[in-house]
Amino acid sequence: MSDFGLVAKYLKSIEEENSRLLMTNICAELFKNFADKQSIDKLIYFMQGILRPKFEGIEFGIGDKYIISSTAIAYGYDVSYVNRLYKDLGDLGLVAEKLCEERKQEPLFKKDLSITYVYDTCISLSRITGKGSLDLKLKKFAELLGYATPLEARYLARYPTGHMRLGIGDPTILDAISIVVKSTKELREEIERYYNLTSDLGKVAKVYLSTSDFSNLKSNVEYFSPVRPALAERVSSIEEIFEKQERFGIEFKYDGIRLQIHKRGKEVKIFSRNQENITRMFPDLCSEISSMNIDFVAEGECIGFDIVNKKFLPFQVTVQRKRKYGIQEKVKEVPIYVFMFDILKINDEDLIDKPYWERRMYLEKYFKNYSKLITVSDLYFPRNTDDVKKLFHQAIELGLEGIMSKNLDALYTAGARKFSWIKLKKSYGEFIDTIDCVVVGTFRGTGQRASQEFGGLLCCVYNQEKSRFETIAKVSSGLSELEYEELGKKLSEIKLKKRPKEVFSLLEPDYWVEPKFVVELGFDEITVSDIHTCNMDESSSQKKGYALRFPRLLRIRDDKDKDEVTTVKEIIDLYEIQRKQSRVNH
Ligand code: ATP
Repeated sequence: MSDFGLVAKYLKSIEEENSRLLMTNICAELFKNFADKQSIDKLIYFMQGILRPKFEGIEFGIGDKYIISSTAIAYGYDVSYVNRLYKDLGDLGLVAEKLCEERKQEPLFKKDLSITYVYDTCISLSRITGKGSLDLKLKKFAELLGYATPLEARYLARYPTGHMRLGIGDPTILDAISIVVKSTKELREEIERYYNLTSDLGKVAKVYLSTSDFSNLKSNVEYFSPVRPALAERVSSIEEIFEKQERFGIEFKYDGIRLQIHKRGKEVKIFSRNQENITRMFPDLCSEISSMNIDFVAEGECIGFDIVNKKFLPFQVTVQRKRKYGIQEKVKEVPIYVFMFDILKINDEDLIDKPYWERRMYLEKYFKNYSKLITVSDLYFPRNTDDVKKLFHQAIELGLEGIMSKNLDALYTAGARKFSWIKLKKSYGEFIDTIDCVVVGTFRGTGQRASQEFGGLLCCVYNQEKSRFETIAKVSSGLSELEYEELGKKLSEIKLKKRPKEVFSLLEPDYWVEPKFVVELGFDEITVSDIHTCNMDESSSQKKGYALRFPRLLRIRDDKDKDEVTTVKEIIDLYEIQRKQSRVNH
């Protein structure tokens, strides 16, 4: 069997498996049996449905329409027939598999496919540009499909759109790597740390699976390779900050866009919270930074500022800077401030393992009032809870979101939510936070939106222990009509015929969608529910979950990926925070 044939066989087993444990074991077996270990990074990218790690921004440049045409060419069918089949089956992979089985034409010669050949061909496809490039891509992809067996064609046809439908995420792959190396998950933490620093799962797999000695592996912060962000915990009261952090400083929490800025020599790259390269959206910032005489990796929050009225602008205005076209106009319309709040590397020195107070000294030295655009976040040292309360109210009066408490002795906790940062936000309830959910289904519109295909969204949080998404709200209000329309379009592209296996739901929406888009929800409180599955134990006789009361959509979080949504553990913590607050209030 060809090496790609073997991969396809394993992917099928993963796709058909529901148990997380077994999926991890199958993954591990695949990695073990994959002979060409030097190319294992290519296998990982293939499984993730990407060509290169996201921060490199390399895309296929062929969508559904072209895959349909390639399938038609490869197997000798009419495009209209392939389209009809696609409507029936709802999955380009199954379409290609079926037509490959019933192919009307054979390729001129046969070829056994390997992952390396498939991957390298796809990379070269992505590089074709200029006049007639789409036609050429289409033909080359058809050629590849022509060589494939039916099962290989299933995964090949899914690859360009990135929807591999395996139902596994990064954590499963990290566990599987550990199992191959150590036979248990004991190496997971170490491997994950490397992943948090590199944001490149392919590289991680290659390092751990193709080298026998990684004990001296130096995990440095590297220029132009984004670090996964440190995240903040929540508490129920200001008093709790004093319990959780011994020595801390309070900063304002600016409600803008998180930026990770990498600068070396004259080169500047800016990454979003989820490691997308967003450099071109900030020409003003780049030109100021490129003239600095230090190299660095640092983080800051970018927030729009109304110069005339001297006021911070709401997030909805700031976010207009994130766009593909008309950037220069927006630079004028939405002037920004960037408040630097952390630094991870300076020149050749890594800082992530230095305490915050030391990192802060570098921030103050290089960024404080650096320019009209760049400064550092304010930092205060309150003596008691009253001081913290005052700072909180001051932040709200300035139009900010709340405060962040920073443990001065903590190291930078890449990719982890730890008490080294604590957030206190003003939203619904005194300090109750908003949550981020992934959309897994849509309900047809009723009332005003009766004509629309979707009027409500089924939203899920993530259960880390069970590695699945669990429902917490059905939500239909909050966004503008335009936003609904835009979201509706995006969701209709990822409709599924059946429930994704990584979703646990008692509700049946009109359409399932692939868990992909993240939305932020506000709500009045968390309640116990019979119909939502968040934290539900299906083996117990009293099947209860958590749900949101009066959920509303606040914004689409395109800076978050599905594996970064609020977790079930966070919901349990929020429920507890809410309980403590209501005890205080009564
Ligand atoms: P999270 O990042 O915790 O998953 P989130 O993206 O919804 O959640 P928040 O819960 O609002 O964000 O809080 C953390 C975010 O606050 C950071 O990611 C950062 O963008 C922003 N932020 C604003 N001001 C600061 C500050 N002074 N220090 C650190 N982060 C800040």
